[in-house]
Amino acid sequence: MTNKLHIYNTLTRQKEQFQPIDENDIRIYSCGPTVYSDPHLGNLRYFFFCGLLGDVLRMIYGSEHVTQVMNITDVGHLTDDGDAGEDKMEKWARREGVSAWDIAKKYEDNFKRYIEQLHIHFDKLPKATDHIEEQIAIVKMLEEKWYTYEIDQDGIYMNTSKIADYGKLMWPNYAKHIEGLQAGARVDVEGKKNATDFALWKFSPEWQQRQMEWESPRWKGFPGWHIECNAMSRKYLGDHFDIHTGGVDHIPVHHSDEIAQAECSYAEDKPWVNYWMHAQFLNIGGEKVAKSAGDDLSLPAIIAKWYTPEDLRYFFLQAHYRSFQDFSWEALAAAKKGRQKLQIISPGDEVELLEQFREDLLDDLNTPALLAKLHKFGVPKWLDDTIRKLGIGQDKIEEIIIPEEIKALAEKRWEAKQAKDYAMADELRDELKAAGREMREGKDNYSVVPLEK
Ligand code: AMP
Ligand code: ZN
Repeated sequence: MTNKLHIYNTLTRQKEQFQPIDENDIRIYSCGPTVYSDPHLGNLRYFFFCGLLGDVLRMIYGSEHVTQVMNITDVGHLTDDGDAGEDKMEKWARREGVSAWDIAKKYEDNFKRYIEQLHIHFDKLPKATDHIEEQIAIVKMLEEKWYTYEIDQDGIYMNTSKIADYGKLMWPNYAKHIEGLQAGARVDVEGKKNATDFALWKFSPEWQQRQMEWESPRWKGFPGWHIECNAMSRKYLGDHFDIHTGGVDHIPVHHSDEIAQAECSYAEDKPWVNYWMHAQFLNIGGEKVAKSAGDDLSLPAIIAKWYTPEDLRYFFLQAHYRSFQDFSWEALAAAKKGRQKLQIISPGDEVELLEQFREDLLDDLNTPALLAKLHKFGVPKWLDDTIRKLGIGQDKIEEIIIPEEIKALAEKRWEAKQAKDYAMADELRDELKAAGREMREGKDNYSVVPLEK
């Protein structure tokens, strides 16, 4: 039994005991949405994971000692995730016939509404466009340290061949991996010295006025996609912080590039971040849920079919965040049923039970194991915010007050069992049954739940 948080760290490829930089100031940064459309269920699964991680850290260290930032990408994310392609904001703005700024605002507001409905909380949700100066400052540092070069009429690029440990999130043997990457990658931008080089600052094209662009010391333009996360994490969490999260798709490019930018400028005393956590995809029919799923796989679509945000939370809890999870409407229906079977249990002195629940969360957020226990013992509504914040039983919470005499019966039965007086224990079980209750027992503890019909 462990009472310390252990998490799987992508950087070291193992489960480690979490050691914060400062126990009174735990800092997490989570890469957030690109706000050119509504989040699909895959995105929501990832946001749910981030929220759960924050809740668990708040449970352990106290909310006043935890700061979790999720950024909002409202500029610079190109359609191919690389350095060619078109800015997603501008492309979708044209499609919807409104400005890029309007698109960003609309989907930022929607995003905030959805996470609120899903009981997901972040302390700060800063936007890339509000932090242009901070991004330019980091580009400048990289220029001064000779890590950059300019491609005419295109932008300022990071020269990854100057970084001995570039790509270290990808083990084993990152040097080899880079060779493979170099050989396999198409060079998406002419003039790149290495396939893994990436844009820090893109110039506005001379022939076309961009909607989102800023003056810079070099050339009017807009930031590369990765630098915003350095700028915002640095501003709100400092040069170093504890945990950085993202989806697994961020490991090879986005996060490798964030690390390169930080460790070549303001965080030369490595590592920049101690723990990297990556969430696996939500699939449908064996394929990653993607934007092309359209509005069919969104929170409003789920609610339209009479599922609640709590049902969706329950569904997500069924899979560990590092495993693939398959979505289907049947699976969601089964999750809804499973949730309905959960019983809320009332105040008692089953503190040990809580320890058992916590133990699963502390073990790299082992939510499937936790759900199994919640089914066995019931969901306690008392004592602990985190169990309550799992949010899966919120709409049921009012229903239970267990009378003192029932509690007394249960206690007597527990004692009879400890004393191996089984005749007495059976008698008391029948009494409890007559009162519409049953006892669920573990090795060292028990709970009392309403009798299943
Ligand atoms: P985006 O808004 O496209 O930048 O994505 C926001 C987050 O959602 C990223 O961290 C992605 O890794 C994550 N994500 C995208 N697709 C999926 C999926 N099918 N399942 C789980 N997470 C996803
Ligand atoms: Zn990021």
